[in-house]
Order: sequence, then structure tokens, then C-alpha cells
Amino acid sequence: MDLVIRGATVYDGSGGPARVCDVGVSAQRIAAVGDLVGERAALSVDAAGLALAPGFIDVHSHDDFAVFLTPEMDFKVGQGVTTDVVGNCGLGAAPFGSARAYLAFFGADRREESLPVWDDYVGYLDAVDADPPSLNVAVLVGHGTSRLDAMGNDRRGPTDGELARMADTLATGLDAGCVGFSTGLIYEPGRYANTEELIALARVMAGTGGLYATHMRDEGIGLLDAVAEAISIGEQGGVPVQISHHKASSRAAWGLVGESLALIEAARARGTDVTADQYPYTAGSTSLFAVVQNAEEGTSGVGDTDWNAIVIASAPGHPEWEGHSIADLAARLERTPQDAARMVVDVEGYGAVVIIHSMDEADVRTVMAHPTTMIGSDGIPTLAGKPHPRLYGTFAKVLGYYTRDEHVLSLDQAVHRMTGMPAAKFGLADRGIIKEGAWADLVLFDPTAIDDIATYESPRRHPSGIRRVWVNGTAVMHEGHHTGERPGRALRRRVG
Ligand SMILES: [Zn+2]
Repeated sequence: MDLVIRGATVYDGSGGPARVCDVGVSAQRIAAVGDLVGERAALSVDAAGLALAPGFIDVHSHDDFAVFLTPEMDFKVGQGVTTDVVGNCGLGAAPFGSARAYLAFFGADRREESLPVWDDYVGYLDAVDADPPSLNVAVLVGHGTSRLDAMGNDRRGPTDGELARMADTLATGLDAGCVGFSTGLIYEPGRYANTEELIALARVMAGTGGLYATHMRDEGIGLLDAVAEAISIGEQGGVPVQISHHKASSRAAWGLVGESLALIEAARARGTDVTADQYPYTAGSTSLFAVVQNAEEGTSGVGDTDWNAIVIASAPGHPEWEGHSIADLAARLERTPQDAARMVVDVEGYGAVVIIHSMDEADVRTVMAHPTTMIGSDGIPTLAGKPHPRLYGTFAKVLGYYTRDEHVLSLDQAVHRMTGMPAAKFGLADRGIIKEGAWADLVLFDPTAIDDIATYESPRRHPSGIRRVWVNGTAVMHEGHHTGERPGRALRRRVG
């Protein structure tokens, strides 16, 4: 064997109880699970007292460009993530000409020359394999990107020809091995799509196993209508549904998650596969442009606009604004908050990213405790500024604070929500499980010491308690240090 991890408390990802045993790795896969006392290994790790889990699957990431710009992906593998699902919120990687519109949002517009060139999703997946990052990458086709490609940013429904072009982008992506289709219905251009357009596109996926992942039209007072729309797109399209970053945003909407969870349960009782994901914080983060548009057009998609609670995370041209609320900036500039926010957008474009303190802690716990909730960081990998600490801390915060300290989840359930459950939903074969034959994506951590360290003030900090992380059998993190290895690969869903 290449590696034997001895005496760990093994949480196998299935949600069942842990057991103390040995795990052997050979040729990138798990070769044996059990008592391996006499087994010889090139490397033997004494893991007594530590927890061993399948590597975590971040079902909600925006790392489409980051995997090339920062291929060691330390902010993810540092928290035990071994697979990223990219392409969320309608922001897909292809066609590349349209995906370029989002480069500034990820602070990557000044680094475009460091990106490889691709055209469609076949090219994107091949580019990942040609110059792999430290973790695996599964890909969603982004509705927004394909709509921009087909019809620009027009505020109307598509013609038959434009719809066919979007469907073709989606079908090409699915054939290439993408795991589903994402929408971002508060963002341009996704916000201009009606339900019928989305049902028509969902139908392209029917029978493929690909899922519909959605940043819904409204996460504020219109949350329940938005959940109903998402479920109806899944039911009429004949596809599974993944509700992204399930939450109730802004005070007027607090408590609605009880009813949105009931809608999910009712749909599941009808036989519809609806699940959700969540990041474990009471603040969100998005582009300031989307917030300003929401305010100017009087839509409630991101919740009520409380400028005191909206803090600039990243403004590449004006780092002195970072960490200040819009209300604070407005007072200093002697403008109204909305004028100040518009000015920041005009100056910084999509490069202005904000943190929005908008959720109720009780709602976060209600969603997390529900069995339909997976974990997804929604981290925005800006190269500059102070990103939301979820980028570095999500998985450790769930395992440490919410599981060990607050008992919102049991540890076997928490691991399941990060591993076996998302692997099944996103069609990642032989991932998210510790069993003979599965890929050796593994994380060894100390459940008594795991904690998120990243804060809003100082977000770029790796969690404590993560001892070792392996991707496809190769160590990428060792006692807090990145090994420099990049053993990741593009994960392709088998069609059919
Ligand atoms: Zn989103």
C-alpha cells in the first residue's frame, strides 16, 4: 500500500455511526478498510484520537477562475475541501467570451492573461485536467453566461433561436460531463428570465441526472414564492432541484425558513428530489451592483436594503473603503447612502463586493438542522480585499462551532452533509465515501480542536484542527502547510 492511516475514528460519509479502524490507500484509491495491522505501507500515519472523513465537497463555489489563478486553492483544501462544484448562481465558465463579464467580480480581471483559453465546457473541463489545481472540480452550466452569449443583457424573453442557442450550450455542457445547470435570478441577465424559459431549459436535462441549482429570485419577503418557482421548474422540467444558500434575508423575512423547509418537505413527499445548501453565517456577500440595482428598481431579491448593514469587502481601486459600511462611507462623502453606493459601483464596476449582515441566527440553525441541507461555502475568491470569512472557514465552523459546541448536528450527520449526501446528489461516483474502491479523497481532523479562525476583520486565516488532507491519494495539506501538490482533476458526470 502507498499509505495506511491507522486507528482513526472513521466517519465514512454515509451518515452511519463512526468506527475505529485502519484505512489503506493504493493507486489513488482506498484499497482496504478494517484491521490492517500486518499491512506494510510506504507511509503509515498514526491517527489515534483523530477523525477521518471523506474529503469535503463544496457544492456551492465560485472558483471557476480561481482554480487557474490560485491553483493550490489553499483557502479550500485548508478546510478539508477536496472537490469544488463551480459555476453556481448562473455564473458559468463558458462560453468564455461571456464568462469574461464576471472576471471583475472575482477580482480576476487584472489577471486575465494568466488564464488558459477555452471556448465551451468541453474546453473548460479539459483545461482543468491539463493544468490541474489541488482539488477536484465538478462543473455546473451557468444560465447567465449562456443567456449573455445568446442574447446579451436584453430585458426580455428569448426568441426561439436564442432559446435554442442556450439549450445547445447546456446540452454541450452535459455531454462534456457537467453535473447540472445553475441560475442566478437576482443578477443580470438571469433576472430577466421568466419561469417558462427556465422550465424549457430544465427539460434539456431531463433523464440525464443533471440537476437544477438556483440562486432564487427572492431571498427576502418573497422567499416562499421563489422556492415554489424553483420546485415547479424541477417538477415541470423533470429534474432534481438544489436550492442554493437557503436563507431568509432581511428582518422582515426572518422566520420564513420554517415555511420554505415545509415547501421542500411537501415536494419531497410528492417524489421530487429537492435539497438545499447553506453557509453557516448570518451575513451574505455579493456584488454591490446587484444590491444597488435591487434598491433602484425596488425589487426585494436580496432583501431590504439596510445601508448600515452593507460593508465593502473588496474595492480594488479604493482599498481604503474596505471594511466600511455604505452608510459610513456616505456620511464621510456627504452623500445619501444610495448615491454613495451608486458612486462605488460606477467607479469599481463588478469589482465592488459587499458583505450584507441580514440573517437571523435562529434561522441559520433551523436550516442547518434540517436533513435536506448540505454545506456550501459560496466563497467569493477575490484576490484583493477582505472576502467574507466563509471562503476560508465554512466547513470548520460547521464541524467545530455548530456541531461540537452547539450540537445543531451530530458529527456523523455533519460529515454526511459535506460528503456522501452531495456526492449522491451531484452524481460524483466513488466520491464522498470511505469504502474499498472509492477515490482516496480524505481529511484527517481533530474534532476537539477544529475551529474556524477567519473573521470579518481578518478573513484570510486557515482553520485549526485540520491535520492532513489527501486528494486522489496525494497529500495536499500536512499539519497546516500546503504540500504544493496539485492532484485534482475535472470530475465528469456520466450521462444517462
Ligand atoms: Zn448566489
